[in-house]
Amino acid sequence: MSAVNESLIRDVVSEVLGRLGGTSTATSTPARNGSAPAPAAAPAVVSAAAPAPAASNAHCGCSAKKASSVDVPLRGKYGVFATAEEACVAAQEAFQQLRQKGVAARRKIEEIVKSLAEKNAESWGKLEFDETKIGRLDHKIAKLHLIKLVPGVDWLRPDARSGDHGITLEEYTPFGVVGAITPSTHSIPTMSGNIVNIASAGNSMVFNAHPSAARCAATAIRAYNEAIYRETGIENIATIIEQPTLDSFNALCKNELVRLLLVTGGPAVVKAAMQSGKRAICAGPGNPPVFVDDTCCLTRAAKAIITGGAFDNNLLCIGEKEVFALDQIADKLMERLAENGAVRLNAAELERLTKAAFTFKEGQGGGCSQASVNRDFIGKDPSVLAQAAGINLPPNTQILFAETAADHPFVYEEQMMPFLPIVRVKSVDEGIEQSLIAEHNYKHTAIIHSHDVETITAMARALDTTLFVKNGASPAGLGLGGEGYLSFSIATPTGEGITNPRTFTRVRRCVMVDNLRIY
Ligand code: NAD
Repeated sequence: MSAVNESLIRDVVSEVLGRLGGTSTATSTPARNGSAPAPAAAPAVVSAAAPAPAASNAHCGCSAKKASSVDVPLRGKYGVFATAEEACVAAQEAFQQLRQKGVAARRKIEEIVKSLAEKNAESWGKLEFDETKIGRLDHKIAKLHLIKLVPGVDWLRPDARSGDHGITLEEYTPFGVVGAITPSTHSIPTMSGNIVNIASAGNSMVFNAHPSAARCAATAIRAYNEAIYRETGIENIATIIEQPTLDSFNALCKNELVRLLLVTGGPAVVKAAMQSGKRAICAGPGNPPVFVDDTCCLTRAAKAIITGGAFDNNLLCIGEKEVFALDQIADKLMERLAENGAVRLNAAELERLTKAAFTFKEGQGGGCSQASVNRDFIGKDPSVLAQAAGINLPPNTQILFAETAADHPFVYEEQMMPFLPIVRVKSVDEGIEQSLIAEHNYKHTAIIHSHDVETITAMARALDTTLFVKNGASPAGLGLGGEGYLSFSIATPTGEGITNPRTFTRVRRCVMVDNLRIY
């Protein structure tokens, strides 16, 4: 194809896409003077019937019939919308804009999100902490400093084949609009990491945040969009529903513009997403067990258990939630825990804490009562738990622990509190079996402290978890003290693993027959 033809075709395609995308003055002439453009005086309006998929819309207009007739003002919102429908229409337009502006714009978006998360870590960390009132301020800030470790555009490398019949290229291409649900436990960090992954793959997205962590998310998304618009001219690449509800979740799931869901949360939202009829990538709940045998270094094990379990007051889905220790080293392990910043509760103190931290309802038949976590204690400081247990703590206490039975609610519930139940087991087999029971087959995360490769292998095989960390703290599984990369969304029941840009792509194959193999 001649250069003239190529450039002509590029111009025509660009013009058609521009028309379909409802391009405005703002999008076609991005401000580049360093300040965010003011909302247009007469806000541009794009019909909710706007463009997906672009080609079919142009020819038959059937998507215009299906979609709402409500006209949606898109300009000057910087990603924050009142309804799922508006947020989806705006994100669809942004997807078309990103498509035109190419890989350079994706790279710019990645750079902006990472640098703003870094720059605003203190203020946004505090904003999230003040709104949610869970976790630890220093760790809320630390999580935002980690966004720079999330993989972006460079992650996507095409796969190629070359042979006697020519060459074949498999490329990782975008879906379009992704609907994303974020948790209360790490609202801005999850959203920021998701934006890096999803936009790096060429998609736009709409967020439905947890209602108790939605204001801080909207603040961050506004800042991201302002900067992205200023630098690229793309408006609303990541949108959010300002006041998220179950209704807005349902509207997002039903919206025809949404091609894919990414859910980060507990069992209820995973179930709801899987029943929605849309393809869902689910980063679901965990209850990570730790098994400690008699071959490991107990001081190293104790320090690692405290580091992982105490992080953000044990809000991490990968965080150590219960410990199974071989009988012969259990006392020593508890001594090492106490020497390294953890405080032990006796049986009476444990009982008082258990009564406060769980509510017990009579089970249906059989007379067994069922424990559910008292949300007032989730992510609270160790001092709050200690008060319920009736003790005072030395300063800088990281976490509490106590010896419990294997069927204690602190073992089998995903409790997300700075408390670790320590369960004595008589053998490696029992330790692995109890770990398997406590993990509930979530297939999320498990940790072992052992230098016996047979024990390590046996536990890895039995639990079959997405993350399996040996001789380190759980965050090592996300590249923090171990090798690997970071994401705050670990897709467990649906199997995609630690999400990255490739998770949000369609694989497309391009085949050149008999040519372009050059040797
Ligand atoms: P949550 O399940 O209460 O809320 C998560 C999100 O789902 C929120 O946006 C919430 O509004 C929404 N939601 C909850 N129930 C819903 C329903 N029935 N229909 C539609 N939407 C619903 O969880 P949380 O307390 O915010 O976060 C903690 C949970 O998330 C834990 O279970 C933790 O293990 C899990 N989590 C998992 C990962 C992972 O990567 N696998 C990461 C972080 C948190």
